[in-house]
Amino acid sequence: MGSRIDPDKIKKDFPILKNKMNGKPLIYLDSAATSQKPKIVIDTITDYYENYNANIHRGIYKIAETATERYIESKRKLAGFIGAEKFEEIIYVRNTTEAINLVALTWGASNIKKGDRILISEMEHHSNIVPWQMLAKKKGAIIDYIKMDKNGEGLSDGSFLEQIEKEPKLLAITHVSNVLGSINDVKSMTKIAKKNGATVLVDGAQSVPHMPVNVNEIGCDFFALSGHKMLAPTGIGALYGKMDLLDSMEPLFGGGDMIKNVGFDSYTTNDLPWKFEAGTSNIEGGIALGAAVDYLEKIGMQKVREHEKELTVYALEKLNKIKGLKVFGYGKENIEKRGGVISFSLDKIHPHDVSAVFDSFGIAIRAGHHCAMPLVRGIFKVGALSRMSFYIYNNKRDVDVSIDAINSVKNIFKVK
Ligand code: PMP
Repeated sequence: MGSRIDPDKIKKDFPILKNKMNGKPLIYLDSAATSQKPKIVIDTITDYYENYNANIHRGIYKIAETATERYIESKRKLAGFIGAEKFEEIIYVRNTTEAINLVALTWGASNIKKGDRILISEMEHHSNIVPWQMLAKKKGAIIDYIKMDKNGEGLSDGSFLEQIEKEPKLLAITHVSNVLGSINDVKSMTKIAKKNGATVLVDGAQSVPHMPVNVNEIGCDFFALSGHKMLAPTGIGALYGKMDLLDSMEPLFGGGDMIKNVGFDSYTTNDLPWKFEAGTSNIEGGIALGAAVDYLEKIGMQKVREHEKELTVYALEKLNKIKGLKVFGYGKENIEKRGGVISFSLDKIHPHDVSAVFDSFGIAIRAGHHCAMPLVRGIFKVGALSRMSFYIYNNKRDVDVSIDAINSVKNIFKVK
């Protein structure tokens, strides 16, 4: 590929994008919810079932060995992709939510005590709020929030510094907001948090699919991600953890695969990463995640990021000209701090109505609280927002058609 990506060429790799929705070519602008899948990922799943479907780890026969090798190989690929040192640091789970809950239920269970503080932020997805609320309730711990800045665009540095001085046991922070696209400087935050004695978990659900990420450079202890947002199937995600921490943690589930030995009254746990993967894994999901990583690496994550920046600036310029439309989050002058997610409101028109008109144009966007009620309802004081989110298969035409859809909404609802 050349110096930038060609979304028209990439679109052809995604079978679903050849379809129509309501008689119009499908324009998919909901990748922050889940991404579409390229043919190579779909074919990888079929290939597994048609050619080497077998349970992993124990089979002493060819196809079981192939399945085991490919499953481990996918962990090596993912480890390399996110800058982890070893595949043993990659635990496969269902999704980001499960990865965060795993940390809360294992590391949290043994390390969080009564009166301890857990620091999160006002822009978190529910999956990085509720597990900590559940843990805090059980343990009598305290949850503190890093506040949004006065413009509601990103996190307040002052609030972060104020909170970190209270020496929380844990900082659990999103890398990129799924509502605003705002990018948090998790590397600096981690450095400061660690100086103050905190363990750090980063929610990478919205970063890993869209930009180069290196967990080693960030320096965090845990990092959570979902395969389905980065071209892989649903039901596969990962928790990265530092070896010494993972080693010190109790397994969450007991059963097959997570043990070395079992007697009538005792067991010994398996090596990493298997200690945390009890029972039969999502084998085809893991292998297909490896194929998704290959696909993204071939394009190059810096190019993915540049493409999304270009599309976002293009969209922001057009959206800013529409009367009555308010974009949430950083403006185009701060594009370095913003990913390809744009939430907006349009006069007093309900986002569900906006979404329905987009649907009639063949465009899929999301409307709602985006699983971030404290931010959307608590801080922005709105019931719901409309959200467009971009990925490698979106082009400027997709934005142009969206602008037509917005103008149509305004006509239908008779707003000037
Ligand atoms: N965190 C963020 C920032 C997200 O955007 C999402 C998904 N919208 C999640 C966590 C949860 O991901 P999953 O539903 O795949 O567990």
